[in-house]
This record gives sequence, structure tokens and C-alpha cells, in this order.
Amino acid sequence: MKWAKSVPYYLPIILILAGCRSDEEVVLPDNPAPKVSKREVVAERGDVFASVVGRLTGVPDSVKGRFVRLLADSVRILRVGDTVRAVYRNDSLMRLELRRRSMVWEYVPSKGMFRGHRKFRALTPNYAEVEVKSTLWDAFMERGLPPILLVNLVNIFAWEVDFATETQKGDSLKVLYAPDGTVYYAEYIGKSVGRHVAARFMGSYYDEEGNSVRRAFLRSPLRSYRITSGFGVRFHPILRRWRPHHGVDYAAPYGTPVRSVANGTVIFAGWRRGYGKTVVVRHNNGYTTLYGHLSRIYVKRGQYVEQGQSIGAVGSTGLSTGPHLHYEVRHYGKRINPLLIKSEPEKPLPEDLRDEFQAVLREYRRLMEARRNPII
Ligand SMILES: [Zn+2]
Repeated sequence: MKWAKSVPYYLPIILILAGCRSDEEVVLPDNPAPKVSKREVVAERGDVFASVVGRLTGVPDSVKGRFVRLLADSVRILRVGDTVRAVYRNDSLMRLELRRRSMVWEYVPSKGMFRGHRKFRALTPNYAEVEVKSTLWDAFMERGLPPILLVNLVNIFAWEVDFATETQKGDSLKVLYAPDGTVYYAEYIGKSVGRHVAARFMGSYYDEEGNSVRRAFLRSPLRSYRITSGFGVRFHPILRRWRPHHGVDYAAPYGTPVRSVANGTVIFAGWRRGYGKTVVVRHNNGYTTLYGHLSRIYVKRGQYVEQGQSIGAVGSTGLSTGPHLHYEVRHYGKRINPLLIKSEPEKPLPEDLRDEFQAVLREYRRLMEARRNPII
């Protein structure tokens, strides 16, 4: 049976409810549902079982000690990214877990006896393949997939794909995810955006080469820079009056390369009044950036540019007293302060974690293959 491998955890409840005849009364317990909470610690380089378990709070030391011995016996080696989790019911410790990708080692400390029972189980992530007929949202609703999964995917791919405008009929999505909507692996193949992969590793998402997929804007369009005028109101040196300054000015020598702060499409390249030689780039999710007073322009309107690509050179064209870059950011047409944009660090995976990451990637693909072609 094809669905047997991915029976949702709530299916028994649905079957019980469906099996209740209407003249029967369903008796629910009086006491309120127990409050279940959890705390987690992720293993880092240099950790051993004792150090990572030691960082858990709200667990008696004696219980920690027994858990560490159990882990040493059954799991043997701690790996970077392993997660130790304590689960509490109504604030009392219910169980301890060690989670590694799709595996869980459980330890349930039993009352009175100083012995716990040990258990090992494998998580069964869900897998879905979706083909876009109109919008991705419609495709999700049609398949009955949880909306939180779509929200997570939109966030993960925010800098790669604009799902509101760039999805097309025939685009496809493969996703491996947990029942709570956490995405383990996602692959989007779009007619206009191409293929994009995001795999979860130590709480972040990376493409197949281990580069972070959450590439936000570069912190600055210049590699080295000095800000001479910020966002706000200033005294204009040429017009000699106070006027709003809607961007940030960077002082730099003539000819310094100006970089596009994110992937996008050039929507303007040419002379724009006081801005002089100007380039405007449109990015995903309603953002545009403007680069003014350039001495040279290296791109054409309609051209696709990548983050970090040189689009022009610093100059002093237009209303300008000396070589500098005037940089503006708009969000849905509204000018915003570029210095306040939340930029995530563009850190690729460290070299010494790449093998570990490739192993995780292989496991995700094996799981997806198993979900797609269940054995019997
Ligand atoms: Zn300016």
C-alpha cells in the first residue's frame, strides 16, 4: 500500500472519530491537555556527549549521567549537528532524546528505579512532489499540504525565487519535511528561475555546494567604503539648502567597482537628471536598488545581474561635488534606509563540515527515494 509508509500521526484519531456513530456519545476527559514543552542543545565541534548533555537545563545531574552512559553505549560517536532534547510534560521531565537527522534515541527516566528504558526509533519525514498548474498556493491546497510548509519554503527561497511573480505553469517542487512543517530538503525547478536546492544542516539551509541559500543583500555596494552622508535630512552642498536624503553616500575613488547588492534584473541604465549616470536593479520581493553618480555603466536594461557583479564604476556625474556613490533602496516603491536592512552573514559552510553536509544530503535523497518508491 502506497500510503502506509507515511501514515500521518493523526490518522488513528480520525479513524476513531469516523467510527463513532452519531447516536454514540464521545466522552472526553475532564482534565486539560498536558502542557508539553522542550529544550534543545545542538552539538558543536569539540563537543562530547557529556558536554552537550551538560548544557541542558532543568535535568537532574543523575539523570544526565545515565543518559550520557546510554548514549556512549548505543550511539557511540557524537556528531556535529546532533541535537539533544529534553521533553517536559507540565514542567516535569518526560524523556530525553538524541536526534540525528532522521534518527532518534530516546531515554525515559523511570520513577523510583534508577534504570531507564532505552528505545531507538526512526523519524518518518513526509515527502511531497507538487506541480504548479496556476499558483504554488493552489497546488498546496489541492494536495492538502500544510500552509506552514509553504510559508517556510517561501522564507527559505526568499533570495532565490519570488513565488508571487516567478512561478509558472509546469514548475515543480519536491520537498522532504517534518509533520510540523520543518523543511529538510527542497528542490524547486522553475521555467524562469531554474533549479534551486535547499538542504537543512545545523539549523540553516545550504545549496548542494554548501553555500548558504539565505543570501541577503550585501552589506554595501562597495567592497571598502566610507559613508559620508546617511539616510535622512542633510544640507545639500550644491543646491545649498536642507533637503531629504533618501539614500546613503559612499566616498570612494573614481573607477571603484560598484556591485549589485543582490541578484536581480536591471530596469534602468542611463542618465537620470541629478543622479547622473544611474543603474536601477529590481530584486525579489518588491526590492529595487539605485546606484547614482557613476562614471561608467557596465550593464544594459533587461540584463540579469548576480549578487556582487560589477554594474558600474564610481564617478561624479549629475549633481555631485566629487566622486562618490549614491545608493538607494526601495521596497514596493517606498524608500527605506539601506543601513537598516537586516543582512544575514553570507557565510558558506566551513571546509571541515563539508563531508558531514554531503552525508546529510545523501541521506535526504535516500529518504526521498524511499518515500517515492515504497518497498511493498
Ligand atoms: Zn546621495
